[in-house]
Amino acid sequence: MIPLSEGQVPGSADAVIIGGGINGLTTARELAKLGLKNIVVLEKNYIGSGSTGRCGGGIRQQWTTKENIKLAQESVRMYEDMSADLGYQVFFRQGGYLMVTESESDLENLNKAVELQKSCGIETEYLQPKDCLKLVPDLNIEKLKGASFCPKDGTAYPFAVVWGYAKACHKLGVKIHIRTTVQDIESDGGRIHAVVTDRGRISTPLVVNCAGPWARTMAAKVGVTLPNRQERHEIMVSESLKPFLNPMVISISNGIYFSQSLRGEIVGGIGDATEPHWEDPADFDTNSQLRFSVRFAKALMGYFPRAAKVRMMRQWAGMYDVTPDHRPILGSVEGLDGYFHICGFSGHGFMLGPVTGVRMARYITTGQADEIIDSLSLDRFEKGDIVMDGFVVG
Ligand SMILES: Cc1cc2nc3c(=O)[nH]c(=O)nc-3n(C[C@H](O)[C@H](O)[C@H](O)COP(=O)(O)OP(=O)(O)OC[C@H]3O[C@@H](n4cnc5c(N)ncnc54)[C@H](O)[C@@H]3O)c2cc1C
Repeated sequence: MIPLSEGQVPGSADAVIIGGGINGLTTARELAKLGLKNIVVLEKNYIGSGSTGRCGGGIRQQWTTKENIKLAQESVRMYEDMSADLGYQVFFRQGGYLMVTESESDLENLNKAVELQKSCGIETEYLQPKDCLKLVPDLNIEKLKGASFCPKDGTAYPFAVVWGYAKACHKLGVKIHIRTTVQDIESDGGRIHAVVTDRGRISTPLVVNCAGPWARTMAAKVGVTLPNRQERHEIMVSESLKPFLNPMVISISNGIYFSQSLRGEIVGGIGDATEPHWEDPADFDTNSQLRFSVRFAKALMGYFPRAAKVRMMRQWAGMYDVTPDHRPILGSVEGLDGYFHICGFSGHGFMLGPVTGVRMARYITTGQADEIIDSLSLDRFEKGDIVMDGFVVG
């Protein structure tokens, strides 16, 4: 059992982390490891109840920007040791990611990306369509133009990861308050002073905004404008089948992704460019839609015609916290001491989360510059210093 409080919050803390998803919990744990005392995590629902508990659990290093590659590479190293490190089984499995494309123009991007990934030390290789059959014998390769494969990519179980981090936080004395909603953040004279919740007020000099899709709303409470918008995404889960699919398959052309879980289920999703964007959390729509099930089923059958006979068991929806360049927003804000944000992962925060917590904790406690955090700071949008990552799918 991991002790989680539902009582009154303490009157003061050295640091308050808003959000009990992967980013809030990894950051809390890493801050505690660096010696910060009296850390409080506030979660309005239960841990993992935001995007983290609704995600596909995919972890890949195949990206088109150095920052995403590096964060993913360092996170994969952490995932490899995570069960032992946390003393909690997180079911990390390295079946690899097979990134396919059906379009000639994407083929060029895929080739460039493979070269960049290799130059960063990632074991990616370019594959001809027929080579994909060695990895996924049942795959329909008729429309494929090419693919890339990295054997070290994989999946982990999102709830186990947050539970593992919550346990590790508890061991280091971090207090996690669930069913506790942050209503306001008080600041004055360019400094953070307190966090106000529905279970009391905490005076604190340090707030880390890890509120996922709600990060924009939290930032607004201290006058920080985040350009983040929310996108609704769904996942479908099938009945259990005999093991037949080792890697995660993902198309950079149509955005479908699917893998087989340890229980034998096909788990996957597909993006929908016609989905509206949301800004106000009151409008978030996380209901399941038939439109998605039909789109996903049709697309899946294109890759596995035999999937026509497979029964779909359940589906759910969650929100992506999307930034204009589809890369996270990390760091602090000039003129507001004690405020930090870790958000905007645009559908990839589960895989980038572990090392982001490490880097941000170091940045917060030492104030030392960090090349990646600096290049992902909020002011890049003002400066026009924007580089899109071309492999954002789903
Ligand atoms: C369908 C889907 C599939 C995805 N697949 C993948 C994938 O395969 N791989 C991958 O890497 N990423 C994936 N993602 C993205 C990933 O889930 C997110 O990027 C990541 O979980 C973000 O974690 P977080 O901790 O920043 O935010 P969250 O997990 O959303 O946590 C934020 C928490 O803050 C809490 N909160 C908000 N407001 C308040 C408040 N006022 N007071 C207190 N608490 C508050 C929320 O309840 C929530 O629990 C997917 C997302 C979706 C929706």
